[in-house]
Amino acid sequence: MSPDKIDEDELRRYIEYLQSKLATEGVADLFNCENVKEWANGKVNSLEDFLSQYPSEVAASLKNTLINDINGFTPRTQFDIPFARYVFQPILDNVAAIAQQLGYRLRLPLRIENSTDVSITPASRPSQDNHLIFAGVGTSSFCNAWAKVYAAIFMEIVLGPKIKSLKYRGNKQLDSVESGTLGLAAKLCAYYATYSTLLFFGEIIEPSENNEIRLQLLSAMETFVIAHEYAHCFLDENTPVVQSNADREKEIELENKCDLIAFRICCSYGEAVKNVPAISGAGAILFFNSLALSERVHNILFEKDHRSESGHPDPVKRIEYLVSLSKEKAIAAKNLDIVEPYLNDVLSICQRLNTFISDLFKLYQSQK
Ligand SMILES: [Zn+2]
Repeated sequence: MSPDKIDEDELRRYIEYLQSKLATEGVADLFNCENVKEWANGKVNSLEDFLSQYPSEVAASLKNTLINDINGFTPRTQFDIPFARYVFQPILDNVAAIAQQLGYRLRLPLRIENSTDVSITPASRPSQDNHLIFAGVGTSSFCNAWAKVYAAIFMEIVLGPKIKSLKYRGNKQLDSVESGTLGLAAKLCAYYATYSTLLFFGEIIEPSENNEIRLQLLSAMETFVIAHEYAHCFLDENTPVVQSNADREKEIELENKCDLIAFRICCSYGEAVKNVPAISGAGAILFFNSLALSERVHNILFEKDHRSESGHPDPVKRIEYLVSLSKEKAIAAKNLDIVEPYLNDVLSICQRLNTFISDLFKLYQSQK
């Protein structure tokens, strides 16, 4: 056996060990590759119906993924299922290529593995030999569901469907958001507050005209999230002392640095593909807003502080930081007059949702 093979086997065992530690209780069956293949093959029967909601090229690629790619998938570990690598590997490849151009080059290999934690956050494990990022269905289900909510709101009230360039079509009617969309947001919050995942929430049907903006929001969110984990690996290589310091202030400083690098990567990505939510940081802001909302509902329903259980900084503070980064960048690019009203609208959406959802759950709690 070659030395490389031994290393790979060792790494595989280490990944498997971490996946067993990360695993959310009670969902082990979900990460059985044979079960996933069985599910996918069962889905084939109802495939035409299922795919009819997508544009034809998306439908064709999904069909291909479900039938061929999933059946041909070879798991690396006993917890490996196709989704993590199919969804996040292309995003990571993109992030790594942009990061290199921006000067954030990694010396060590980085790979993405399936996360068995079905909550929102992926995790990175930088090390002296290999960096690992664990991401999976917990993150993608959260981003997918909330991208549908915000896409519906964007389509209804503020920016309309032509959100391809930084041209701003100011049309503020924030009070006109449909109750169905707000109701969906409230359900997502209640579900996440209760189960700490959106994985089993169920299908959310959306009108096909929302697809374009939804996909922009989704890729802006997921690119930011993966870029943040990439930044942890980069900073670990370059300032290892920060990573090992358990002091809370240092921890927040490190998270801010990762958010800064992720914001820069996300902007470059957005500029390349003309994705305004990525360029402006709006995708990341809306992602953190969804997290903040879910935590607030958790605190109202269960009368305890969710924040104290979590290692990451307050998402509200992360939103403020991202807004300041986005404005700084717009000032440098001399387009603050366009970016600022756009960001203000995004923040108004957050505010409106926050007020609606807080009032709703406080009322519910008071009438119990
Ligand atoms: Zn982090």
